Amino acid sequence: MARVPKRASEPVPPETPAEAQVLSEHEGILVIVEQRLGQARSVSWQLLGQGRRLADKLGTKLMALVLGYRVEPVAREAIAYGADVAYLWDDPVLERYRTRPYSEAAVHVIRAEKPEIVLVGATYTGRDLAGAVATRLETGLTADCTLLDVEPPPTRLLQASRPAFSEKLMATILCKKRRPQMASARPGVFEALPPDPNRSGRVVRVGSTLREEDVAARVLDFIQDPDRVNLEDATVIVAGGRGVGGPQGFQLLRQLAQVLGGEVGASRPAVEAGWIDRAHQVGQTGQTVRPKLYIACGISGAVQHLVGMEGSQVIVAVNREPDAPIFRVADYRIVGDLHQVVPALIAEARRRLG
Ligand code: FAD
Repeated sequence: MARVPKRASEPVPPETPAEAQVLSEHEGILVIVEQRLGQARSVSWQLLGQGRRLADKLGTKLMALVLGYRVEPVAREAIAYGADVAYLWDDPVLERYRTRPYSEAAVHVIRAEKPEIVLVGATYTGRDLAGAVATRLETGLTADCTLLDVEPPPTRLLQASRPAFSEKLMATILCKKRRPQMASARPGVFEALPPDPNRSGRVVRVGSTLREEDVAARVLDFIQDPDRVNLEDATVIVAGGRGVGGPQGFQLLRQLAQVLGGEVGASRPAVEAGWIDRAHQVGQTGQTVRPKLYIACGISGAVQHLVGMEGSQVIVAVNREPDAPIFRVADYRIVGDLHQVVPALIAEARRRLG
């Protein structure tokens, strides 16, 4: 009978020589890069940044896998963002995301290259792909992670952490006996490395086995929702909380966001009051964002909100309470009534930006 380890971090003794061989055959970290129409999602670069940190800790290589059609520039970008090698599967069958061919291609490359860790962005597409790939590889997947670390050799285990039990505690999940260890991670949680176009790395073309007639699903049309909220890639977010006072207050914030070319975010009470759609919620149970500029209006700065936005480059807070906790993380503090401050900001932004 297998010995049960006393601590979670203790290596589990392999049960069979074959199992031990499987674990030691796998090496390196692979990030599956998500792109749409040749444009990579920022979460992929964030994961390459974190993958680089973990690969350096393990003393191993960082790989990227780019799937799509006419996406060689994305593979080159992956090198600039930290990959040592980018596998490129460029195929008309992969022009639009469909579970079957994408998972087939990813499984093929993972079986050939044998990474010990595979990371995927926890977007709608990434969640779908990660589940399909983990099932085919019969390995463990920790979904929606907010922390990723590795145990140093000899265990080299991925420590994949995510909120659990209605977000009340953090669970760290290990995959001790199967390879690769898979995790998907939320957008905005990790920081991308500054891209270096002079970084050296290899782009390796792979693949050839996909046939359109083997894919049951056809994409007839692709309709972009004009009201789609994209907080993940926004460089400017103007966010409102309970202090905004109602749906009309959000109209004001929309105007400021529009002049600055940004999106509108919200705290949970504003969403729960029905003032704005849930897709706008920032924080522990909403989205994690990393814009260049985050303007928080009428938001007190509860920790559950801060975890979702404190990685922003510059934070401006507007609050009528001089002691509001949001001011502790703010780079610029404006004490005053947002109904006076925001119109003044809109007027000034229009004057400067035209
Ligand atoms: P309040 O705390 O009520 O703050 C309103 C602020 O507006 C005050 O600081 C006030 O001074 C200011 N104000 C009022 N009127 C004006 C005015 N006219 N001009 C300027 N300032 C004004 N919250 C989130 O945001 N996101 C989450 O994802 C999230 N997840 C949660 C998960 C769990 C498990 C729990 C328990 C809570 C979660 N919360 C979340 C809720 C969080 O704890 C806070 O209750 C919430 O962030 C507070 O929202 P708020 O700042 O808009 O409201």
